[in-house]
Amino acid sequence: MNRFDVIIIGGGIVGATAACALGKAGLRIAVVEARQPVPVGQQKPDPRVFAITRASERIFRSLGVWASIVERGVFAFSDMEVWDAGGGGVMHFDCAELGEPYLGHIIEPRCMETALLEQLESDNNVSRFCPARFQTVEMQEENVTVTLEDGQDLTASLVIAADGARSPLREALGIQTRRHDYRQSSVVALVKTSEPHRDTAWQRFLPGGPLAFLPLQDGWSSIVWTLPTAEAERITNLDRPAFHEELAGAFAGRLGTITDSGARESWPLQRMHAEHYVLARAALIGDAAHAIHPLAGQGVNLGLLDAAALTDVIVAARQDGRDPGALRVLRRYERWRRGENLLMMSAMDALNRTFSNTQSPLTRLRNLGLSLVNNSGMLRQVFMRHAMGLDGDLPAMARISGEVSSSG
Ligand SMILES: Cc1cc2nc3c(=O)[nH]c(=O)nc-3n(C[C@H](O)[C@H](O)[C@H](O)COP(=O)(O)OP(=O)(O)OC[C@H]3O[C@@H](n4cnc5c(N)ncnc54)[C@H](O)[C@@H]3O)c2cc1C
Repeated sequence: MNRFDVIIIGGGIVGATAACALGKAGLRIAVVEARQPVPVGQQKPDPRVFAITRASERIFRSLGVWASIVERGVFAFSDMEVWDAGGGGVMHFDCAELGEPYLGHIIEPRCMETALLEQLESDNNVSRFCPARFQTVEMQEENVTVTLEDGQDLTASLVIAADGARSPLREALGIQTRRHDYRQSSVVALVKTSEPHRDTAWQRFLPGGPLAFLPLQDGWSSIVWTLPTAEAERITNLDRPAFHEELAGAFAGRLGTITDSGARESWPLQRMHAEHYVLARAALIGDAAHAIHPLAGQGVNLGLLDAAALTDVIVAARQDGRDPGALRVLRRYERWRRGENLLMMSAMDALNRTFSNTQSPLTRLRNLGLSLVNNSGMLRQVFMRHAMGLDGDLPAMARISGEVSSSG
């Protein structure tokens, strides 16, 4: 009874997406998730929201969950503005010059989680084990067996780790990681501003880290304020009036004053990259494979591309009568995604380092760089199309087109 084609450990956004995609392709899937979902009526607004690219939207569309995510609340943003607190450099992007209806969407994680969960529950190919925890893994020649904390054994040809940056499965498989502690944390909160956000995602680079305002409904925004860890702690614990004043000051009053705010959370930041994404009968996706600086809001988007790329590789192997858990098959996925993810991680690192530097030659250079990109239509388009997931080596699910505009 507990024999599957694929076992997925971790049913967060990335793991649930992989399960939907593989279930839709006709494979028998087990998803093991430790966290019990909060019932819909009892969910609270999440202070942390995600910027979701067009590529991720296409993946959700091809799985048939996009309409259900939109119903729960998404906010389409049409413009993006990035500027440097240490000089006059500014970059502005708008969707019209790319011939697109919007640049992307701001979405609360629970909207995606609930829509994906509904889809999984209606798919007879998918069995959910929740709440349930992975405990041990045993690799055999033809199979992999996973034992859960309650003693159940699950067997399949392949196990996928989608269990987040601390991935217990990655640890159990003995896959090493490279890590770097940024010594920064991101303070997140929902805030209301006196000036309208004009459907724009804003980011100001300060020496301690970037401060982003992501637009939401009814004049609210979600902030991601990255600071040295001790400073983030202090900001998280300020009383509301002091927090409002410091936040408006750090944003140079760009959106006026802060008139209201919700709960604050602080997320410590680390870069992490797994040395390998695959072994025979095992593959890593999402944060289990890589954790990236949130300054360009790419983490979950990269994870969704991993899930879609791995699905392509598994489905192609089955069509050719090959074993989808074989190392030679899985290596194709590793070659495809590890390089792409490394490129994005390195770019985020370089941006974070460059903008944290207060030495004047570098300040001048980066402001020159910002102005250069801003004044070149072509450079701006290349930059934007890549960040939106419209270009690059995309998996099949991220390539479908024909979207219509949708906003919250
Ligand atoms: C401040 C901040 C802002 C961010 N903003 C953005 C953004 O705008 N856009 C973006 O794309 N990304 C953003 N990210 C990144 C994003 O949060 C992550 O990339 C994303 O959540 C990773 O999803 P995941 O499904 O891979 O892992 P997770 O969300 O960590 O899910 C892992 C799942 O595995 C389960 N699990 C763990 N251990 C076990 C076990 N033993 N057995 C069973 N289940 C287990 C957990 O319960 C969890 O549900 C941001 C990150 C931060 C810190």
